[in-house]
Amino acid sequence: MAKRPGSTRWLQRQHKDPYTRQARHSHYRSRAVFKLMEIDDKDKLLRKGLTVIDLGAAPGSWSQYVAEKVSTTGKVIAVDILPMEPIGNVQFIKGDCTGQEILEKCLHEIGKQKADLVISDMAPNLSGIKATDQARSLYLAELAMDLACRVLQPGGDLLVKVFQGSDTNRFRLELQEHFARILTRNPVASRKSSREYYLLARTFRC
Ligand code: SAM
Repeated sequence: MAKRPGSTRWLQRQHKDPYTRQARHSHYRSRAVFKLMEIDDKDKLLRKGLTVIDLGAAPGSWSQYVAEKVSTTGKVIAVDILPMEPIGNVQFIKGDCTGQEILEKCLHEIGKQKADLVISDMAPNLSGIKATDQARSLYLAELAMDLACRVLQPGGDLLVKVFQGSDTNRFRLELQEHFARILTRNPVASRKSSREYYLLARTFRC
């Protein structure tokens, strides 16, 4: 059964977790930032001037990090179904990625130039039922891929969270239709108990 936020086991685990402690002592809003940092260190995804769309952005640590990396010459558009406290140089869109209007709003925000990178850390509310959670998370990953295919410029990249399961191979094959290289990333900062990992799809081909 998944540990739910607020439960005693969840609170004990949070207390012990080194990444949670590290995040608490930094200006970042969540331990999730360490996963993106690790992937960025390895794959050099972010640099000054890029236009980046962050899906499932709240509470906002990925957006904070991305905004620092792309600097004021870049652009960050963050999307979440939940509200998010403002971050400098980040344009926040509150909405559900299952709806068409998010794509329209992202296209409006990026303008003619299109995006260089889409990152998705979207995760469903976990039910604890393995097959259900896997199907829901794969649906979110597919939404991220569909949106990326509409907003990325040729050569752009997509980083997307997935959960281990039988259908992830099919998703990988779908990514291969649109991107030149698909890489698997398992950041050390992901919890050992978690079945999450990330797929990095590089060089969008349209
Ligand atoms: N990367 C974030 C950070 O660094 O703070 C943490 C993201 S959190 C693990 C996953 C987020 O996905 C949640 O804030 C949740 O609201 C969002 N999410 C889940 N389903 C969504 C959907 N359909 N549309 C938009 N956001 C969604």
